[in-house]
Amino acid sequence: MSESNSFNDFVTCPYDKAHRVLRGRLAKHLIKCSRNLGISEEWTICPCNTTHHIKLKDFAEHQKECPEANWLRGSRSGSGNGNGQQSAKPVLVECDENWDDEPPVEAYDPSVYCEENAIVRMLQGHSKAARKEFRESERRRLANKK
Ligand SMILES: [Zn+2]
Ligand SMILES: [Zn+2]
Repeated sequence: MSESNSFNDFVTCPYDKAHRVLRGRLAKHLIKCSRNLGISEEWTICPCNTTHHIKLKDFAEHQKECPEANWLRGSRSGSGNGNGQQSAKPVLVECDENWDDEPPVEAYDPSVYCEENAIVRMLQGHSKAARKEFRESERRRLANKK
């Protein structure tokens, strides 16, 4: 394996060998690239790694080779190499629209925004008055010292 997991590595886009993409951006690039080329129906995504976009006809082969599917293959046999364990059928990803009901997208929460904004405004308004008050009290305190 010559692969490293550094996000700063350049990897080759499986859709177009001319595309060199930062590993950290690959997932996004692949989505864009597959849409641009309109070939997504011929391709599938490895269930072990969303950056593994594989041609459907190569998918069975990928299941054997995928470094991230090792845990899947190994988990069936508690001990041993688990090399002969090919009984499990590959899990095909057909659930484009059947992901969890709630997408793992951070929802925009207006109340948080307003709250933060209010705090900032309060602090700004407050600090001015507080500074003035502080100066006054400081002057009084120094005057009393005499
Ligand atoms: Zn690409
Ligand atoms: Zn894979």
